[in-house]
Amino acid sequence: MKETLKKLVELQGIDSEKLDLKYKRQEVLNSLVADKEEYKSLERRVAEEKQRQQSIREEGQRLVREQAQLEARDSELRKRLDIVRNTAESQAVGREIVANENKLQEHFEKVDRQHSDLEESLQRLAALQSQFFTKRAELADKMPGIKQTLAAMDKEIEKVDAKRKSLCSGIPQAVMQQYTDLIRTRAPYMVVEVQTTGDGDHTCSGCNIGLPPQVIGDIMKGDQLVCCENCGRILYLAEKEEK
Ligand SMILES: [Zn+2]
Repeated sequence: MKETLKKLVELQGIDSEKLDLKYKRQEVLNSLVADKEEYKSLERRVAEEKQRQQSIREEGQRLVREQAQLEARDSELRKRLDIVRNTAESQAVGREIVANENKLQEHFEKVDRQHSDLEESLQRLAALQSQFFTKRAELADKMPGIKQTLAAMDKEIEKVDAKRKSLCSGIPQAVMQQYTDLIRTRAPYMVVEVQTTGDGDHTCSGCNIGLPPQVIGDIMKGDQLVCCENCGRILYLAEKEEK
């Protein structure tokens, strides 16, 4: 059992190494996903701004047509004013001219607004596009490095797996099962050292509960795996305790 216990401790080291590698790999993937999301969000905002700009330009075209109509109306009314014969008619036409001029005034306000909207949109689009291109270049720059890092990590994980496999082949099936069951509830510490206090008492270093002397005796006998009665972890003695 002593050999098996040593192997279990080693296996625990390998498993925590593997967990660490997987965690780091996931971190790399997470940062890549975050980068890609930022890229996509910029791409979307560029498209949205382009669309907004398109509708501002359409509004501009509509305003050009509106101005032509209002100006045509104005010159038509002025021509009519030249040919009216009586005061009442001339006053009526005069009122129409004023009303049309008011409409033109409103129209020019709309033109001003359209111009400043367009200006604003052009600036916003330029800023967004520059952010988008920067992000795209940044991603393109990073990608090969990230792929390399991931490939190196995969290789590392493969190595750890191979090491684990060869180690497991030397551990009895039943013990492996017990260890595997403990992973679910007690990871990353499935196999723990017995601790000796100043006054010679023993505790489980997994849960800090005191261990009765016969438990230590059982471990020393070494004919079976001994587990902590409280937390179920597999117990082993430090080298010096063994002697
Ligand atoms: Zn315990």
